[in-house]
Amino acid sequence: MSRKYLVAGNWKMNNNLAEAQKLASEVIHMVYQNPCEHVEVMLAPPFLFTRTVAAMIEPKNESVSLGAQNCHTEQSGAFTGEISAEMLKSVGCKYVILGHSERREYFEESNQTVNEKVKAALNAGLLPILCIGESLTERESGIFKDVIGKQIKEGLDGISSSEMSKIVLAYEPIWAIGTGKTASPEQAQEVHHFIRESIASLYDSALANNTSILYGGSCKPDNASEIFAKADVDGGLIGGAALKSKDFVTIAKALSNAVKSTQNA
Ligand code: PEP
Repeated sequence: MSRKYLVAGNWKMNNNLAEAQKLASEVIHMVYQNPCEHVEVMLAPPFLFTRTVAAMIEPKNESVSLGAQNCHTEQSGAFTGEISAEMLKSVGCKYVILGHSERREYFEESNQTVNEKVKAALNAGLLPILCIGESLTERESGIFKDVIGKQIKEGLDGISSSEMSKIVLAYEPIWAIGTGKTASPEQAQEVHHFIRESIASLYDSALANNTSILYGGSCKPDNASEIFAKADVDGGLIGGAALKSKDFVTIAKALSNAVKSTQNA
């Protein structure tokens, strides 16, 4: 699998059914009518609405795909209230976001738990989007690369090269999520480059070069282009702006333009 360019919308716990239908149908129609060349657009609604969104996506049109925001470590069993990777696969999900900082913070997910979820997702045939990123304190104290390096090493423990080729990484500095503060393009590039080097040392440079690394953290239509222009940024994981169809599609267009200008350079 070669490096792909992805804009993924994490809706979090937002929208009722009617709002979810409206948002998904607006995004899907905009993308189908005016394709974002080279870019795959992924929607990750709450679990409850995955079927609804799946029914709106044309299975043969790969420009829009479906994802989920989490899954359990086990494929089935007595885990009341939980959803497994196999269930997500069976309703048409292609991706699952794992290790989001909100899951790590509010649901106490450790690197080990995230690693088990990555394995569960791969076993079910889902493509994991593994989120990593440092807190403000970790950035300010200068240990952010140690933190991110540990998240990568432990999150990918026991993952083979062929499994790694199916994983997308998302760098999400916690201090930039939902705060309106974005990492500067230079800060994003520095960390994305570090992540790629870490993958090269854990696996090899060809695999690292083919790994997609998304940026997430207050990415909006007015800052997306400058972030996507950076060499090691392959797309975005979008929260707040994914709830507005025009903003979200504008971000996907910005990625498409960034890819086109790199390819023409
Ligand atoms: C996120 O939660 O993954 C995210 C990037 O949120 P926001 O875009 O709102 O900062």
